[in-house]
Amino acid sequence: MSLDGTYDPDNIFAKILRAEMPAARVFEDDHVLAFMDVFPQAKGHTLVIPKHSTARNFLDEDPEVIGPLMLGAQRVAKAVRAALNPDGIVITQFNGAPAGQTVFHLHVHIIPRWEGVALGRHGQGMADMEKLKVLAAQIAAKIA
Ligand code: 5GP
Repeated sequence: MSLDGTYDPDNIFAKILRAEMPAARVFEDDHVLAFMDVFPQAKGHTLVIPKHSTARNFLDEDPEVIGPLMLGAQRVAKAVRAALNPDGIVITQFNGAPAGQTVFHLHVHIIPRWEGVALGRHGQGMADMEKLKVLAAQIAAKIA
């Protein structure tokens, strides 16, 4: 998948949005849904996605969606910090398979980092859903 292509309404995040697939949900408002990444690169790796979107990537997105998406990402990142006390936080997103994108519904990664703890490999090593739900609840409790 390159930067160009047709949005697949059956992509995994679209299914999570429609509750056809389970996810450890953290937060949602009118614009965004946040949930735990099931192949986390670090403890607390959270994804934020626009709810009303058929954009495969950042470049495709309606400009009116970008603002609420980034506000949601900041709100969730602050909650991740408050819940888990990381030393740093990576906030990133990938556009096109050569850039590392694997799911083609626009999303923002929030990845807490700790001094001396290496980053896990992208999209590898499935987490236990019950543990993710505990983390999701800890982060949700800190949403301001
Ligand atoms: P991308 O590689 O497209 O930037 O990010 C996609 C992310 O979605 C990856 O970090 C991957 O671990 C995560 N992911 C893939 N499938 C699922 C899933 O079924 N549920 C959840 N919660 N995350 C997923």
